[in-house]
Amino acid sequence: MQLPREVLVGRGTLELVGETCKKLGFSRTAFVVSGEKTQKIAGSRVIDLLEQEGVKVGHLLVTSPTLWNVRAVETKIRRKKPQLVLGIGGGAKIDIAKLSAARCGIPYFSIPTTASHDGIASPLASIKGLGKPFSVMAQSPMAIIADTDVIMKSSQRLIASGCGDVVAKLTAVRDWKLAHKVKGEYYGAYAASLALMSARLVLENAGSIKPNDEEGLRVLLEALISCGVAMAIAGSSRPGSGAEHLFSHTLDAVSPNCALHGEQCGVGTIMMAYLYGLDWKRIRDKLKILGAPTTAKELGVKPDAVVQALVKAREARPERYTILQEKTLDENSARKVAEATEVI
Ligand SMILES: [Zn+2]
Repeated sequence: MQLPREVLVGRGTLELVGETCKKLGFSRTAFVVSGEKTQKIAGSRVIDLLEQEGVKVGHLLVTSPTLWNVRAVETKIRRKKPQLVLGIGGGAKIDIAKLSAARCGIPYFSIPTTASHDGIASPLASIKGLGKPFSVMAQSPMAIIADTDVIMKSSQRLIASGCGDVVAKLTAVRDWKLAHKVKGEYYGAYAASLALMSARLVLENAGSIKPNDEEGLRVLLEALISCGVAMAIAGSSRPGSGAEHLFSHTLDAVSPNCALHGEQCGVGTIMMAYLYGLDWKRIRDKLKILGAPTTAKELGVKPDAVVQALVKAREARPERYTILQEKTLDENSARKVAEATEVI
């Protein structure tokens, strides 16, 4: 298990970045990976704070989470040989920092500027160009610095998406249990409980998870971090990603660039919960309270795209046993599931 050493969640925690680096022994050199926007939101401040501590800092602005960008950062890291890489952003920047640092054998810090998915704490990276629609193992962050003053300013949509990614654990853990029963796959009760508890806490606090509500956002951040840690404990994405994620990955291919990862996972969870005979209506109603999409229309995709994604999802990752292998859906039955759950 590779777990974070320091997790700082709260107001003004960004100011502690220099201190945290020193405490963990990174006092000479560091490399910052951020985006154009996130550089303004937090990147420049982080560089200032590190330089004040006498750390020599290099940095690179990146865009989308592609293998090309991972390689660009890797080249810089190999040239500059920093002690530490810091990923600053919503998701893409953190994933690029995470994977490029892992490929160079260097630790990394995760400094999220939004709370839109669990990649801020998990050891997995979602990168385009690796020939896989799903996340790959990279490394856990050595530290996570989640400043709620920064994250409070992010949009309701990003926050609702983060909630969708946490709620997804309700069916992901079911799939994991199913794979254990049917295929004898390793199942870790501790990791599973941690992921489930996070999902339950987000559902219970649905009314208060919104921008400018520090307490509510803290619940979401702690849930996302716990889900990331659950995956680190399990040594795989199993506690965090099941059929609802396969649906989301497939929808990305069927109808690209329409909705956010967590938004799609939330809708996937409603339908997978239906297949499992769980209380899907409660999940849907809570997602509504959170302001997350619950229908194809709200996702901005055509009803047919949802049906296609449901039918093809099991092929996205054939070795991953889920409810979609148990209840093989054809076009007719997939449409019935989407209609019964009022997704289409
Ligand atoms: Zn996810």
